[in-house]
Amino acid sequence: MTEFVSTSDWPEAGLRARHILSLSGGKDSAALAVHMRDRVPNMEYIFHDTAKELPDTYEYLERLEGYLGRKITRTTFGTTFDSILRMKGGMLPSNHRRWCTEMMKLKPFENYIGDDFCVNYVGIRADEDRVGYISHKPNIRAVFPFREDGIDYAGVQRILEESGLGMPPYTEWGRTRSGCFFCFYQQKIEWVRLKQRYPDLYEQAKAYEKPNSVNGNIFYWADDEPLTELERPERMAQIEDNWAKTQARMLKRQKNKTLAETLGGLEVIQQNQQGCLLCHR
Ligand code: SF4
Repeated sequence: MTEFVSTSDWPEAGLRARHILSLSGGKDSAALAVHMRDRVPNMEYIFHDTAKELPDTYEYLERLEGYLGRKITRTTFGTTFDSILRMKGGMLPSNHRRWCTEMMKLKPFENYIGDDFCVNYVGIRADEDRVGYISHKPNIRAVFPFREDGIDYAGVQRILEESGLGMPPYTEWGRTRSGCFFCFYQQKIEWVRLKQRYPDLYEQAKAYEKPNSVNGNIFYWADDEPLTELERPERMAQIEDNWAKTQARMLKRQKNKTLAETLGGLEVIQQNQQGCLLCHR
């Protein structure tokens, strides 16, 4: 069936299994698409579009389509973030109420596959130790080619550089993750950068912070700090300052490592603190 799942491992799937690589708009899934392009010619590339992505993500996916010479299929849940939010009474998703990943990423994925057998290629690297938020339906098998092939952060960078694709554009202005522009997993420093780079998207995120219709409480994206507070110039300066100090401390601890090992190490630390593998891979 594939070098990662053999027909003897999974006889009921046999030769009928579909091969699906789900892209997030991030560097790891893009590098995996590059890595697998010639090894699995019948791969289906898909992207679960929340319609709340950064413009950078759409641009990067277009670049990737050029490299793959294939269209990336856009899947949606058939409804919008705003209509689901209304159904939820205006209660914004959060780390503890993570309905967005399930409704806007996982369900569209499972709907797209239906009851077909599917080998799902997941871009978790060899230097990460998590399995992630993946489907557990019996007709879907996740495989982890980067782990099998020992590809770490430096390996991903190399794949992207050698293919000419490069890193996702949002990394140029200091954002570390793909996904919705208002993602609650963002660090405060990323909110500052969103405000600087895409003030209109910051305004849109801010507009969601209003009393919900269930209990009248206001939910905020960035923990319990309203975006109206976070955007005050003195608060933004303080966040920048704190971030610079934290980075310096972390870099000091990563002494005697290459730049790629350091960046990979920092990313794993950040992801373990806050992150969603399905959206930010
Ligand atoms: S990127 Fe963030 S806000 Fe968007 S679906 Fe994923 S977890 Fe939810």
